[in-house]
Amino acid sequence: MPTTYNGIGTRYYGKKNQETRPGICEHCGRAATLASYDTRLWFVVLLIPVIPLERKRILDYCPHCTRHRVFSLKEWEKLKAGRPAEALPFYQRALALNPELPEAKVAVGLDLIKQGKLEEAHQLLRFLEAPEAFPNPGALFALGCGYQKANRHREALALFTLLAGRFPQLSQDKAFRATVKKSEAATGAASSALPPRRVNFKPALGWAVAVVVALIVAFGSNYSISRNRTLHLVSGLDQTLTVAVAGHGSVTLNRPGRRELQLPEGAYRATVRGAATQAVDFVITASFFDRWFKKPVWVLNAGGSGLLLVESTVYGASPTEGAGGYRFHFGEPFLFVPQVDYPFEPFPKQIQVDSQSKQVGKSRIDLFPAGPAPAFYGLAADGRMAEALKLAEWAFRQHPEDTTLLLPYLGLAQAGQREAQARKFLAEAVQRRPIGIQWHRAYQELRSNRKELPALLAEYDALLKADPENSALLYLRGRLCPSGSHRAAAGR
Ligand SMILES: [Zn+2]
Repeated sequence: MPTTYNGIGTRYYGKKNQETRPGICEHCGRAATLASYDTRLWFVVLLIPVIPLERKRILDYCPHCTRHRVFSLKEWEKLKAGRPAEALPFYQRALALNPELPEAKVAVGLDLIKQGKLEEAHQLLRFLEAPEAFPNPGALFALGCGYQKANRHREALALFTLLAGRFPQLSQDKAFRATVKKSEAATGAASSALPPRRVNFKPALGWAVAVVVALIVAFGSNYSISRNRTLHLVSGLDQTLTVAVAGHGSVTLNRPGRRELQLPEGAYRATVRGAATQAVDFVITASFFDRWFKKPVWVLNAGGSGLLLVESTVYGASPTEGAGGYRFHFGEPFLFVPQVDYPFEPFPKQIQVDSQSKQVGKSRIDLFPAGPAPAFYGLAADGRMAEALKLAEWAFRQHPEDTTLLLPYLGLAQAGQREAQARKFLAEAVQRRPIGIQWHRAYQELRSNRKELPALLAEYDALLKADPENSALLYLRGRLCPSGSHRAAAGR
């Protein structure tokens, strides 16, 4: 059979001496107009015939499945020449010798149909109508078509009905049904002899099942995601604390670090006890599609004590300098970040990026291990004054005894025109008891100007009056005297 690949190969071109006949394709079993003709096989390039090859005789070409028999035309003509008046006399002779030979009956019958001798043909082929006759629907179909062609639709229909009953598969064949309907229309038949056309549900059913299964899997995975969320519990404290979520257990943290708790999506109240005490109301939720496409992170930061860093970076063949960013989170008991590629793990050294030019942004979250001082200096160096000051204030509240950042804090506040913020914070710090001398000194430092000094003196006089035996207060009042300033300087 001729084949072409990418337009190169062999192909038939031309049709000569064409004969057609109604029949049943011996390959696919469908009713068809089978064609026989002379043609030539060509070598083709881009489907254009280039080199003529052999001439062929195509036999019973089926328009449905395109299958056929093929002879070399030379061979075919030799065969024909060897049979002076075609094959028919042989068949007729065979039939005369053995009147019951079915193959001969069919062969002669088909020839009689061709000649329009339908009664004679029918006589010969009648044996095929018996159920035990060898199954050759083609000959009876050809006879039916012969009747149809002669406008003898009733006879045609009788044969078609018989065929439809005997060969149910044929009754579903499109060409066969069209042929039958033609005669039914011609006779004005009220009802059809054909069974209703079966709709083939198999492929549709297959698809429906596949879709349903896919939906079940998809919804199941979505549901499963919603039932298994991770709450990260972090602490920045050296002392033990316990976080309890009613109905879902509790987790104890003995030192700065992180632990996990699996929770279904929902609204919760967590109770923090130990080194910090607080109740935290929070919600773990996500939209339907975000469950599939986002990697959110929920963090319960006990007592707001953990210093969390959320940072982003850009991967690419030629990374952009300074791409990406960072942000510190502290002080708040609950943090939700909608998309985190690497939760509590480092960025990978490299990732697979689709193309040379493409850049891919990734994000991570982690506890910042170096503590508040490097974070403060980093923010200050990046000119992020407000964040640096806020971070220092958070660190002061966490550890009032640690004053390493106090002078840098004051320096940054003054340099950044943010003295008011520092004043407000220190005013709060000096309220704390026991008295932290460092805080008071910084507070006095800020207010030791001509304008504020009288009020400052009055403030410390009042404090001393209420607590006259307090050595720290006595010292602090003393360093406000003009003569006390050199002692104050020495005390630094
Ligand atoms: Zn076929």
